[in-house]
Amino acid sequence: MKITKPHLFYFNSKRYLSWLCLLSCLFFGNAVKAKENETSKNLDISSNSLNLGSTETFLKKLKLKNKAIKLKEVLGTQAKSTQLPMKFNLIDIQGAGIPVITKQFSLELDGYLSMEGQVAGFDNSEFIFQGNNENLYGWMILRDQNIAYEYTTEYGELVVKQVKITDVHPICNFEQHNILNKSADSKIAFPNAFTNSPHIGSYAGQHVGLLESKPGSNYVILIDTSRVMSNGVPYDVSKAFIWTTWQIVAASFSMFDVNVTTNREIYDYAVPSKRGGATMYRETGRSSCHYAFGTSTFCTLYRESDAYGQGRIAVHELGHLLHLAHDGGQPGGEYFNGIADFQWVPVMGNIWMGTGWNNALYQWSKGEYYGASNREDDFNIINGFIPSKLDDNTHTKALSIASNGSVSAQVNTGLIERNTDVDSFSFTLGSAGGQVNLVIDRTEHIGGGMLDVQAYIKDSNGYTVAQSNKSVKRSASFDIDLSQGSYTLEIRGGAEGSPNHGFSNYSSVGYYAIEGQITGVGDETPSINNLSNGEMLSGSSELFSWNTAGAEAFKISAGSTVGAADYYNQTNPTANNSHTVTGLPVDGSTVHITLHYLSNGQWMQKSFNFVAFNENTTDELGLISPVDGETLTGSSQIFNWNPGQSEGFWFYAGSTLGAKDYYRNAHQLSGTSHTITGLPTDGSTIHITFHYLMSGQWFQLYYNYIAATDGTSCTAAPDVPSKPTFTLDSSTGFTANWNTVAEAENYTVQLWMNDSQWQTINTIPSSEYSFTDLSVGSTQYVRISASNSCGSSDFSQWTEVTLPNDSCNAAPTTPKDLNGTSQSISWQTVLDATRYDVQYWTGTWTDHGSTANTDYNLNLSGTQYVRIRAINSCGNSDYSQWKALY
Ligand SMILES: [Zn+2]
Repeated sequence: MKITKPHLFYFNSKRYLSWLCLLSCLFFGNAVKAKENETSKNLDISSNSLNLGSTETFLKKLKLKNKAIKLKEVLGTQAKSTQLPMKFNLIDIQGAGIPVITKQFSLELDGYLSMEGQVAGFDNSEFIFQGNNENLYGWMILRDQNIAYEYTTEYGELVVKQVKITDVHPICNFEQHNILNKSADSKIAFPNAFTNSPHIGSYAGQHVGLLESKPGSNYVILIDTSRVMSNGVPYDVSKAFIWTTWQIVAASFSMFDVNVTTNREIYDYAVPSKRGGATMYRETGRSSCHYAFGTSTFCTLYRESDAYGQGRIAVHELGHLLHLAHDGGQPGGEYFNGIADFQWVPVMGNIWMGTGWNNALYQWSKGEYYGASNREDDFNIINGFIPSKLDDNTHTKALSIASNGSVSAQVNTGLIERNTDVDSFSFTLGSAGGQVNLVIDRTEHIGGGMLDVQAYIKDSNGYTVAQSNKSVKRSASFDIDLSQGSYTLEIRGGAEGSPNHGFSNYSSVGYYAIEGQITGVGDETPSINNLSNGEMLSGSSELFSWNTAGAEAFKISAGSTVGAADYYNQTNPTANNSHTVTGLPVDGSTVHITLHYLSNGQWMQKSFNFVAFNENTTDELGLISPVDGETLTGSSQIFNWNPGQSEGFWFYAGSTLGAKDYYRNAHQLSGTSHTITGLPTDGSTIHITFHYLMSGQWFQLYYNYIAATDGTSCTAAPDVPSKPTFTLDSSTGFTANWNTVAEAENYTVQLWMNDSQWQTINTIPSSEYSFTDLSVGSTQYVRISASNSCGSSDFSQWTEVTLPNDSCNAAPTTPKDLNGTSQSISWQTVLDATRYDVQYWTGTWTDHGSTANTDYNLNLSGTQYVRIRAINSCGNSDYSQWKALY
């Protein structure tokens, strides 16, 4: 059995306890002694953990609460911290007090504590303790005794347990360190300056002690250069070395709301809970870092031979600072060597493998690659300390094309903030059509730029006419002749390869630029260009302007229905490109505008719809258009509101009051308008819940609308279905299930066949499909796309399905006696079970893996919640009771 280490810890800590008793008396007179258990096989987890009660009570017992309050009164500003040394007792897993002395202790106005120091009488020791009444955590390391304790808050209770020192302070002892040290010539796809973020481009003489990647952010990562340079002049390396190191770190964190800086003053100004750092050294060595963001304990960065290496090791160590463990797997072991065929490696794995790769991609990971030893969700863990950047709520914007047709990377740029983000750029080709020659590539330094580009060109119906994601390059490119029409260039984060050999788009995020040439650009038809469809008008009169597109004359009319002129009818044509329309309603209703234009001797029309100004409700917080009770115009609808004094908004749309079965926006909104999609078009009642945030509290307003009834036509291709789930039906079949997608008419199901390609198995209207006649015991991969008459979605993430390899009479019973640690677990054999599925809690029950044995390596750390079920070809058992593991 593998669970022998806690036994060793126990032995050590007992010995340690006897020393400690000389130093101090027991802190809690009635402390519960850790339970001893003589057999290692059924080791009870309580033998290496101890519950210390509520965090608030604990702070009171330590008399920290009072000191905290006093400090609070003294401190006037939120950014200040104190150096007051304090002595108090922490507790070991036997309940014994351990006297510690703080070197740094700070308290923020919201009650957040941050402290670090040493164990009294133990030179080679250190501890950190941080958090608030709801969530205290920290650790203590006694190096000479080879003991580490970790403190965490679980369900409001502070728990102490023994851990390996490397669980809270990884040493990055890469075996392959620097052996592949040959640098690619150019590390930046577009070396010339970009204005959209300071960390992009080549070094241009900046003061390297004052670099900031996101000035003004409340969250700060300091690259502490105090030991390697003075006043912006490095002792041993070039200024460009410092610049490149910084820009690589800035790139790796560019999806987060954090200012990566070399300026100590910026760090000093941030509150302790929102800052952390890494200190550069002149010496060479093995860099390392504690789990310690939010304290002044910094990573140690020894000097590397070039900035490419220095920047990457800095990112890796800062990953540890933010509580990320190593990403292991084969080949590589503790540090996964990545997938050379795709020049991809997780940044918490063996980053040195990428040194010689021309298009290396270093990404955050959640262990999706084959054989991953660590399935921690890196973004989720980092978000525990630093939030992601807000989604910029992308609207399609026009591709900037010079009059000679050139598309410049300087002005056509953007940021994919998260793996669900899609950026869209529109362009139009004239009657002769044109040639589109574009390259889309990441703009951040190769050492930190995490974006692999997937790009599409879609026509005005939403059909994909071309797509590109160049294999083993991070760019996409097009060289294609297209006919007259309007097109959209869509940019997303890309994935490459297959489930068993490749990477997903999990961490394909970052800055990009578009460069190239488009010939034949033209706008064929006149179009209103000062207001967008669905926008609210400003009063009973409104100026409309349009592009002339070579037409000779124009007339504009306004009415209550499409094509009508009951509000306004311009009788005399004009050659101008604007006109003021009067007599418009001011009740928030829909106003239909028709633009008539004379082209080649013929009058043509184009329709637009806007929302009338609403004079009745403009003072009152709430929706102003569409007006409550109105019939909507389609499956997607712009809602406009008066924000009043509110700070944020959120929408639900559903079939009943308060429901969100049609729509729920992903992020908190600001502004005064938002498009809701996925609405039914069957004339039914649609309930909208409008949430607004006021003084930190959410309130709701409820509205009813009537769904549009022209449901026969779609407006766009459907969204991508969710990753399918499955149930095993037999040793040769399984049933896949997925969510229904709004406006989808059919779903295409594909399997990965013969280890070489995706193959369409069927196209069906329902959201489940049963596969039969597969090979006994085989592993299958399944993915889904949704389609309607407007087009097809991308394929979903794939799901891996392993078929059982047996015969049976009934499904197995539920497994019992689940035991172990966050490293490994075991349980009782279930009769006739051929396989066990293991799930762990990541905010939802998540598949960890499967095994045919009755033990399993989780290779996780910290507290984990785990459950298992038993499988054979007749079916599966229920999941067992979950177990908390440490
Ligand atoms: Zn490491």
